[in-house]
Amino acid sequence: MVCYWIKRITITGNFISLILILYACREIREDESYILATTGMLYDITKNISPNFLKVDYLMGEGVDPHLYKFSQIDLQKLNKSTIIVANGLHLEGKMNYVLKKISKKKMVVSVGDSLNKNFLIPISSTLYDPHIWFDINLWKECVKVVSNNLQLKYPLYKKEIQEKTQKYIIELERLQVYTKKRIEEIPEKQRVLITSHDAFRYFEKAYNFQVKALQGISTTADYGLKDIKELVDFINENNIKAIFVETSLPTKGMEAVLKGVETKGKTIQLIEGLYSDAMGAFGTPEGTYIGMYKSNIDKIVEALK
Ligand SMILES: [Zn+2]
Repeated sequence: MVCYWIKRITITGNFISLILILYACREIREDESYILATTGMLYDITKNISPNFLKVDYLMGEGVDPHLYKFSQIDLQKLNKSTIIVANGLHLEGKMNYVLKKISKKKMVVSVGDSLNKNFLIPISSTLYDPHIWFDINLWKECVKVVSNNLQLKYPLYKKEIQEKTQKYIIELERLQVYTKKRIEEIPEKQRVLITSHDAFRYFEKAYNFQVKALQGISTTADYGLKDIKELVDFINENNIKAIFVETSLPTKGMEAVLKGVETKGKTIQLIEGLYSDAMGAFGTPEGTYIGMYKSNIDKIVEALK
């Protein structure tokens, strides 16, 4: 049953693929009460609005970069066991796209970003859109509705419970919007420049009238070179930027090179670590929830730039 897409993996012909097939092709029964989300942010939505009896699980935990994520044999078992898979789509899960597409022919795959009205999205080419949709809280509320509608479709007997939980969660997101807006007002408008490792904050830029700059592109698969570092250093010097940020799911060396470049020119700048871009913090901590992660980011940004 699941063997077609598994077979495609063998094209690489390596031994690991063979092991994957042996594992994945074993009979794993689909569990009607098991839902799988790809990212931590989608896990958070699903967990918050699902009926109590459902078990919600995830693939990508703390500090994991979804652009580069490769699924493991345990992931394959989770994918087979789940009755719904909640994915970001818009090519965020770059290396899993093929598998998710194949699975969608056999079970419900809710590709949240691909379900949104394209007018809400930021185009990056004639056919592609920026996948970092969680940084605009308004857009994230639309994502909550997409997940909610699909859950209601799959579990009609629990419609009322799902609707009530959805409403409660949206109210919490609205409170987060009020908090975010209020805190950002502490930063003078000309200082609202967010410089990060990779270009994950375009929706944040649009929602809060920021300017964002990044060393790497929309995906971390794109590499950067000395020219990119030099351009960023020049921009920082010309605009008297106070701080730059390193994301938890990426190595620090690129931004350290930028810091060194700025200091070589005799300027001082802060390098702030621990900004959450494509992954949340550890589950069980405040930053391991969408709201906690977002608040942590806002507090870091405001304290560094105000
Ligand atoms: Zn990203």
